[in-house]
Amino acid sequence: MPDAGGFGAALDRAIAGLPRGLRTRFAPAPTGYLHLGHAANALVVWRAARETGGSVVLRIEDHDRQRCRPAYESALVDDLTALGFRADEPTPAELRDGRPSAYRQSDNGPAYATAAAVLDGLGRVYACDCTRATFAEWAARRGRPWSGRGCPGGCAARDLERRAAGRTWRVDLGEGSESWTDLAAGPLGGEVAAHGDPPIRDRHGNWTYALCVVVDDLRHGIDLVIRGEDLLEATAPQVRLGRLLGRAVPPRFLHHPLVRRADGRKLSKADGDTAVRDLLATGLTAAALRGRAATAIGLEPDAP
Ligand code: GLU
Repeated sequence: MPDAGGFGAALDRAIAGLPRGLRTRFAPAPTGYLHLGHAANALVVWRAARETGGSVVLRIEDHDRQRCRPAYESALVDDLTALGFRADEPTPAELRDGRPSAYRQSDNGPAYATAAAVLDGLGRVYACDCTRATFAEWAARRGRPWSGRGCPGGCAARDLERRAAGRTWRVDLGEGSESWTDLAAGPLGGEVAAHGDPPIRDRHGNWTYALCVVVDDLRHGIDLVIRGEDLLEATAPQVRLGRLLGRAVPPRFLHHPLVRRADGRKLSKADGDTAVRDLLATGLTAAALRGRAATAIGLEPDAP
């Protein structure tokens, strides 16, 4: 992964090599206010789309009903507008009209259920009663975290009742790894089950990020995924899951550096001092905020 210093040049090269008319997406989870890290991601997403005649889909990743809030969705739409980022689909009005949207995950349960049924038809889905504590106990006994296929409880072979309370559904992604050429970092690859079989439905009954993102990139026709390098590890399982769901050609991937706090940790929505709306409320202009986000990941500031 190029460091922040080298990222601007890597992005210019990546963009120069892209075909025209790709569809990319900005996909925040409304679990808090947008922060500088989201602004940096938006800069890269909109720059790539603008310079290649592509389009941007705004996707509301509110799959986790316990953590997401409609007020944060509404705030993120406002904040994006305030920063000058306008998605090609959907319009802000479409997200605000009170009707279900194809771009809001909580409105699209049937699409994820259909995908889960496809995976089930392939014999890949099983119920699991492992909790975080099960994984932690396994790791404490062995001195390393669970890795590879399955789960510590061996649930794939136990044929547990799926609908019982507290059951997670996992997908067996099979053996091995997937590789891809990251547009910024070059050839990369990873184990498809580095931390066990991914959950597709959590113990509360939510469809998970692991499933929703792959289903949505497929049904929204996304062929360029641009996101922070904290999601590098998610890429191999997503490529494999896409294949199982019938995606012949994976999207292109471009991972960019993260905006980091002074101590090197990644920003989170809990770092209120970097929330877009708070920064704008202090009198920082949208252009200056975009500039700050750009500089933090090694880009020249520019207009969105
Ligand atoms: N919703 C994810 C997040 O807010 C991004 C997902 C992705 O880009 O794949 O971190």
